This record gives sequence, C-alpha cells and structure tokens, in this order.
Amino acid sequence: MSALDSFREEVRSWLDQNCPDNMRTPKDGGMRKPATPQEVTAWCGKLQEQGYTCPTWPKEYGGGSFDKEQAAIIQAEMARIGTMNPAVSFGTMMLGPVLLEFASHEQKVEHLVPITRGEIRWCQGYSEPGSGSDLASLQTRAVRDGDHYVINGQKIWTTMAHLSDWMFCLVRTDAEAAKHQGISFILFDLKSPGVTVKPIKLISGQSQFCEVFFEDVRALAKNLVGKENEGWTIAKRLLQYERNMLSGLGGGGLGGGRGRGRRGGADADARAKRGNAGPAMIAEGARRYLGTVGGGSTGRLADAGLRDELSQAELDQMAFSLTMRRANEEAKTSGPSAASSMFKLYMSEMGKRRSELMIRVMGYQALGWEGDTFSQQELNTTRSWLRSKGSSIEGGTSEIQKNVIAKRVLELPTTG
Ligand SMILES: Cc1cc2nc3c(=O)[nH]c(=O)nc-3n(C[C@H](O)[C@H](O)[C@H](O)COP(=O)(O)OP(=O)(O)OC[C@H]3O[C@@H](n4cnc5c(N)ncnc54)[C@H](O)[C@@H]3O)c2cc1C
Repeated sequence: MSALDSFREEVRSWLDQNCPDNMRTPKDGGMRKPATPQEVTAWCGKLQEQGYTCPTWPKEYGGGSFDKEQAAIIQAEMARIGTMNPAVSFGTMMLGPVLLEFASHEQKVEHLVPITRGEIRWCQGYSEPGSGSDLASLQTRAVRDGDHYVINGQKIWTTMAHLSDWMFCLVRTDAEAAKHQGISFILFDLKSPGVTVKPIKLISGQSQFCEVFFEDVRALAKNLVGKENEGWTIAKRLLQYERNMLSGLGGGGLGGGRGRGRRGGADADARAKRGNAGPAMIAEGARRYLGTVGGGSTGRLADAGLRDELSQAELDQMAFSLTMRRANEEAKTSGPSAASSMFKLYMSEMGKRRSELMIRVMGYQALGWEGDTFSQQELNTTRSWLRSKGSSIEGGTSEIQKNVIAKRVLELPTTG
C-alpha cells in the first residue's frame, strides 16, 4: 500500500470514529438531525486539533503541515461522508493565505490560529463608494498616532460585516503618493469605538452587504501587515485568492458565491435548498414543470431547443470541472495566479446562464416572492437567480477579469 493510501485509511478511520452523526450524511440514509451551533463549534475544534481545518498551513499556526495531496485526501474523505469543515470562511480562503505570505511571525500566531479554529469571522473592507473597479482610488484615510493608526472614511458592499468580528481593510496612508503607492493593509476589531455597520437591504430580500463607517477608529499599528504604503501588493494577492475561492479553484472554497453553502458532499443538498441550480436539477425541474414525451420522471423533454440547452449546460459544467481539476493538478505551487481570473469569469457567467435557464423552465412558478402557491424551493430559486447577478460583480466584475486576462495571462499590448 502506498504512503498516500495508508494516509487515506488513517483519515477515513479517524473521521468514522470522531464525526458526530448529525455532522455527516446519516449512515442509515435517513434524515440528518440539525446540528446546534455548539455542536458545529465542537466539530470544528476536533478537526482543528487534527490539523484538518487548514491542512496545508504550518502546525505552529494551527494547521496540519500536510502537503497538497494529503490535503486533497482529507477534503475528499470529508466530502465522502458529507461532513463540512466549519472553519471554511474568508479567513481560511482569503486572509489566511496572504498572512502566511506577508505577515510577521507574531501576526501569524495571533491571527491564523483563531482562523483555523473558526473563532474569528473576517470581512473584507476594500470597496468604497466610487472605488470599486478602480480600487486603488480608495479614500479611507489612516494616520499614524503613536502605537495606533486613526482611521476615517467609509467602505461599502462589505459582505457579512454585521456578522463579522474583524475586518481586513485597505486604507490610504499617504495622500500625496501615486495612487497605488500610498495604500496599506490593516486589520482591526469591528467592535472598536467609531465603527458603524449598516446592513443594506437587497432586491433579493436579503441583507448580505453592509456599509461600514469609520470615525476616528484607533487600530493598533502592530496589525498593519507588510510595510506602510506597500499594501497594494498584498491587496492584489488577496484578490487572486478571492477569485480562486469564487470559482472553486484550489478546492475547499465557498464555491459560486460568498456567504453561501460550503462545498463538499452536502453541497448538492445545500444547493437544492438554496434553489441554486446545477444541470441535473434543471433537467429535473424541466420534467416537473414542462412534462415529458409520454410523461414520467425519466421521459424525453418535448422541447428540442430546451434539450439542446440542457445538454450544453451539462457539457459546460463537465468541461469546467475537468479544466479546473487539471489546473489544480498542474499548479506548481498551491497559490493562485492571474489565471484565477479566467476561472472566476467562466464560473460566474456559467452560473448566470444556468439560473436563467432554470427560471425559464419554471415559467410562472419562478415569479414567486412569497405565499402558499409557491414551494420554498421555488422561492429560493427566484432569489438565487437574483443573487446570481452579483457573481459577475463580486471579486471584480467580468469586464475587469477580462482586462486582467488580456494583460496578465495573454500579455496583450495595452494602449494609452
Ligand atoms: C455579491 C457581492 C459581494 C461583494 N462583497 C464585497 C466585500 O465583501 N468587500 C468589498 O470590499 N467589496 C465587495 N463587493 C463590491 C465589489 O467588489 C464591487 O462591486 C466591484 O468591484 C465593482 O465595483 P463598483 O460596484 O464600484 O462598480 P464600478 O467599478 O463603478 O463599475 C461599473 C461598471 O463599469 C465597468 N467598468 C469599470 N471599470 C472598467 C474598466 N476599466 N474596463 C471595463 N469596464 C469597467 C464595470 O465592469 C461595471 O460594469 C461585493 C459585490 C458583490 C456584487
């Protein structure tokens, strides 16, 4: 037996012995009893002690010091029994990797360990009114005052800020320098005096985003990552990790949207509950809403055009998954590159096409907002379709991804 095979056996047997029944697909195939927040926390703690929440991070920072292949085995074995990694978050997917690259040892110990335990929820303070695609034009100011930076300004579209503990934030520390050069990357507690978080109500009926205002917020200078005024390099690196996360590249991401369900074996279930359609679900919906030639749940769809579109959606999904698997296997390092933009672009546009198709299949049943005439899954599908519009905006719009691909991947000449 190879070393990797015995590692797989070891992981499988540990999971079998330690994973609580309500944190996995039930062995008897019955319904899973919902886990309480305390049970989720306890499961997260057990996984972390084993080094399984952030397998490739060094042990001294709360990880498992496993290599890429071992990490893939851990993820696959967890998916096999349908359990989740409760630590997966912006902390594990975006902030942690850049701290590993750019932070001091003390900063890593202080911030990475709680991330691996799922203790601190992080949000991303990048966008400002007027500074989204042109992020480097941001205006939030931070001025050094002894052991602190004093921060004034505003962020917008900050996902889950109202449910987060800390923010990683881009601030301008030199107003005179060229716009990419006066930016710093700083971390601070959202409970600090002077921070106001206001949720924004969306058309989908949810409030995923917030406006965050800073009035003389004092952030400890020791939490500035990298050098003052050199935060832009860190900011860009984090965006690559974000695009990896949004496309599912690198594995273990939030997959197709932030703040949504986690990947893994339970993903298909979670997706169905959210109404977020995969090709198989659209085909099932088409049979239910439009009927089949000769009836029945396996019959042929009457509409030849729709059959065509469904086959295309399935092929797109398969080609995308295989390309992503190849990219993961070929990656020389576990870190992302500008190519993340290609996957992010394709994933978000494909997701939007699939949502549109599902809505067309459902007809009037896709018009529900509330009420008894619609099932919960139908209402979720409508909201999920509205939410899918955001996927080609978050983490940089599709136009911006195309710019990155043209410049950094294809190395096309720039004009002007
Ligand atoms: C679901 C979601 C979650 C988000 N979460 C966060 C978060 O947690 N933290 C955070 O900081 N931000 C977050 N954002 C904000 C997001 O990063 C910005 O919305 C995005 O970068 C676009 O910026 P903008 O909204 O200011 O649009 P603008 O930059 O004003 O763009 C408007 C339009 O102009 C186009 N455009 C702009 N510049 C160019 C160009 N150079 N070439 C071609 N076209 C261009 C854009 O593609 C777009 O169509 C989130 C957004 C969404 C939708």
